[in-house]
Amino acid sequence: MQVHKIIIPTPYPVGDVNAFLVKGDALTLFDAGPKTEEAYEALKWGIRSAGYEMKDIEQVVLTHHHPDHAGWVDAFPHAEVLGHRYVDYWMRQAEDFISYRNAFYIHELEREGVPKQIIQDIVEVRGEMELFGTRPLTGFLAEGDEVPGHHKLKVYETPGHAQSHLIFVEEGSNEGIGGDLLLEGVSSNPLVEPPNELAGDRPKSLLQYNASLKKLRDLQVSKLYTGHGGEVYNSAELINDRLEKQKQRAFKVREMLEEPKTVFDVTKMLFEKIYKKQPGLTLSETLGQLDYLVDNQLAQIIVREDIEFYQKV
Ligand SMILES: [Zn+2]
Repeated sequence: MQVHKIIIPTPYPVGDVNAFLVKGDALTLFDAGPKTEEAYEALKWGIRSAGYEMKDIEQVVLTHHHPDHAGWVDAFPHAEVLGHRYVDYWMRQAEDFISYRNAFYIHELEREGVPKQIIQDIVEVRGEMELFGTRPLTGFLAEGDEVPGHHKLKVYETPGHAQSHLIFVEEGSNEGIGGDLLLEGVSSNPLVEPPNELAGDRPKSLLQYNASLKKLRDLQVSKLYTGHGGEVYNSAELINDRLEKQKQRAFKVREMLEEPKTVFDVTKMLFEKIYKKQPGLTLSETLGQLDYLVDNQLAQIIVREDIEFYQKV
């Protein structure tokens, strides 16, 4: 694959994000950075340093809908925009999606035993929304598809970090574009998000994420271009390491469950210093560990007055 990497600054704690310009039969930009002035400049200069102009980009392909990746689709009004169909809800921001999403989060957070005030803060404070792009997708990509204009570049659905998450792996070279599925320096957070069908149960993000990591491991990717940081050449080894560390974290959480505890109780214990600042992220992380324990029959859920309590078994 002919890949040109563009490093883009973000206002988020994660730091820089990567976009990739790939020349095939089509000129495609994978991910587009957050919608900030600084990111726009970095994108423009990155594309120029590869010998192109913004207007030369024929399609933008998104690994997932998060704002650090999907902001500047707006800078390519003439280009196709492709991604998982779930991305489209976040781009369109239709009334019915926003009300479904808010109701979903309120319901889940109540079940997690989160105090009313914090629930309100989480649902209301969504400043990062402004950094989203607003262009609806022009086409959807799904498992098994080939990216248009890129012979043998296959699409794999890899939910967990985001419900919309996709990776792209080229048959033959086994090189891939991995978004935030596997990062070189940090472990990726499985976030709680509304289900794909906008109906039914909460997706168990960490379990999905672990399955997606195993899927990537099976693909035996030789070089993975990642969403943040450097390329990964030893993906199988790194995945085994991440899965093992995750298991250890879950076992640590299990020891806190002698007495039944809510997700909120456990979050306060695990993230004493940061849970107030980053409630959404820390609750998601805790819930992931609890889902893992329940899935492995190492903990059980007791429901009292619509609130879930977890206890060691
Ligand atoms: Zn990211």
